[in-house]
Amino acid sequence: MIIFELMNLANRNILIKICENCNHLFIVTGRSDTKYCSRIMKNEKKPCTVLGAQKAFKENYINNTFKQMVDKYRSNYKNQMACGKIDDEDYEAWSKLAREKYLACRKSEENSKQRQDFIAWLKLDFYDAISTSYKSIGEKYSDSAD
Ligand SMILES: [Zn+2]
Repeated sequence: MIIFELMNLANRNILIKICENCNHLFIVTGRSDTKYCSRIMKNEKKPCTVLGAQKAFKENYINNTFKQMVDKYRSNYKNQMACGKIDDEDYEAWSKLAREKYLACRKSEENSKQRQDFIAWLKLDFYDAISTSYKSIGEKYSDSAD
């Protein structure tokens, strides 16, 4: 019976979706790209449209802040490389590690251990982070000249 009704609705071009907030089916009445139903669920004061949007905003904000932090370190080291304080190869090594670590934890929870570890790694001294000791560019050149 339910299936029949759903098919019937489909035939009439009525769009049915699963609400991303409460996970219940709903009939889309407004914009077809809506993700949330307009019901007020038990124990809630606001409809899913409001709660879902708030939740998505918060998650996005947290994720963007996390990415911004990574980008801040990256651009800082990139600038240091540009003015010769950090060697290109060292920067590349750091950048590669940062990318691997970021990709490994970007989808984990805000307070997950992976994220905490990554943040701790970002805060390390640059040369500790890439496990090499500091060498000035002058020293590097004199090494290769030997
Ligand atoms: Zn809902």
